[in-house]
Amino acid sequence: MKVWVDDGTCRGHGMCLTLCPEVFSLTDDGYSVAITSDVPTELEEAAREAIECCPEQAISER
Ligand code: SF4
Repeated sequence: MKVWVDDGTCRGHGMCLTLCPEVFSLTDDGYSVAITSDVPTELEEAAREAIECCPEQAISER
């Protein structure tokens, strides 16, 4: 599983960081970035929850 954050859509709510801090982080600009694009199997469920809960639908699974 790979994830990608559209930094043009992200509004920095931080929901993804709360749900899956091992995969998502905030940049100095206050937007989310996937710190690992290849999500380990044990974190896939949390990463999918982050995708579903993002208010801006800024996270994609690839
Ligand atoms: S939940 Fe969505 S909008 Fe909020 S920081 Fe994460 S990617 Fe950005």
